[in-house]
Amino acid sequence: MLTTAPKGTKDIMPDQIYKWHYVEKKFRDIAERYGYSEIRTPVFEHTELFTRSVGDTTDIVQKEMYTFTDLGNRSITLRPEGTASAVRAFLEHKVYANPQPTKLYYETACYRYEKPQSGRLREFHQFGVEVFGAESMLADAEIISLASEFLKECGIDDLKLKINSVGCPVCREKYKNALKDYFRPHLADLCDTCKDRFERNPMRIIDCKSPQDKELALGAPSILDYLCDDCKASFEELKENLDALGIDYEIDPTIVRGLDYYTKTAFEFVTEKIGAQGTVCGGGRYDNLMYEIGEQDVPGVGFGLGIERLLLLMENIGVEIPEPEAMDALIVVLGEDARTMGLKITNELREKGLKVEMDLMERNIKGQMKHADRLGVRYAVVIGDDEILNGEAQVRDMRISEQMSVPFSKLYEKLSK
Ligand code: ATP
Ligand code: MG
Repeated sequence: MLTTAPKGTKDIMPDQIYKWHYVEKKFRDIAERYGYSEIRTPVFEHTELFTRSVGDTTDIVQKEMYTFTDLGNRSITLRPEGTASAVRAFLEHKVYANPQPTKLYYETACYRYEKPQSGRLREFHQFGVEVFGAESMLADAEIISLASEFLKECGIDDLKLKINSVGCPVCREKYKNALKDYFRPHLADLCDTCKDRFERNPMRIIDCKSPQDKELALGAPSILDYLCDDCKASFEELKENLDALGIDYEIDPTIVRGLDYYTKTAFEFVTEKIGAQGTVCGGGRYDNLMYEIGEQDVPGVGFGLGIERLLLLMENIGVEIPEPEAMDALIVVLGEDARTMGLKITNELREKGLKVEMDLMERNIKGQMKHADRLGVRYAVVIGDDEILNGEAQVRDMRISEQMSVPFSKLYEKLSK
């Protein structure tokens, strides 16, 4: 127990972290190029925020939340996704009083009590964006374009974009009735979860992962045949915008998303290259969420992109992520005086911007040279009593095994070449 991390969590060890830095930098860059600002919110929130916003008929709220009572007797939940917190912060800080839109991005850890498997963890990480205040389908197209460009810049070109419209409460009501009419004769064949969904949230049956329910869902009526005029026009507009941007998509009426607050646009970027959990990015519009939480009529649209699944996909399709550059130099010291001089020189070179180390194990010279090899440093800078006397170090170029004397004052110049 003491030396094993909890089930469904993963350490990101130093030899892997460069991959995270790589995609984090790319995401930050592209989000800022699109005019989004970063938001950071707490890891935990009042439980009610999620039961309200995520919806109490969803898997997340019904069985996946990390909820506990804190010492002040409050019900607290570790965030299972990023949207609710961003919405809460937007309302709390009355950002809606400013001219809109508000365009936000974030990177967050999310917590869901799920059955761990490939691409499914209990602690996982998401990149996300949210646009608040814009009703126009330009916003939906913009975030899809942001996700699509980001994935392209990560070297991924085989993700399929699937889009759908889940309508609004008006058209959904009619659709839900049609769905119930369709599933009613098969009610006994549905899985237990879907039997429960039948009354409470029949659209979720279409999203069910059980093979038998999936099969049944194939013949179910399509939401697209039930859209009201406004939702239909919005969907057409979205498609036109995507066409104008040259973004390929497939219309998939079975994408309903797991969350209740979605309206109109729903989309996913999916792949077959990472096994059963093939959705790398999922998002959509949620025009009714702000009202639900804070009685403000502010539309919203956003996505969440799973970083573990992204990295898994990059690995599986062989994207080469550049490894971090090696240290510039190891300062190798012989004797007490050299050690003091070495400390000073190490510090000076670091201050000037070089990546320099001294051996903290106080090995002998042979051990230090071996260490230099292990580190893969470009130069070993050897300082002993003679060198201190002459005011110069022996600089060994580890790649070509050549050595030369360099005055202490010229070290930076030599090493930075
Ligand atoms: P799924 O259908 O895979 O359960 P979801 O609909 O629950 O996904 P969202 O809530 O839309 O997922 O989250 C957005 C993204 O976060 C997903 O597309 C996926 O990449 C990632 N994600 C969701 N749950 C997990 C998890 N348990 N472990 C790792 N990544 C996850
Ligand atoms: Mg899920």
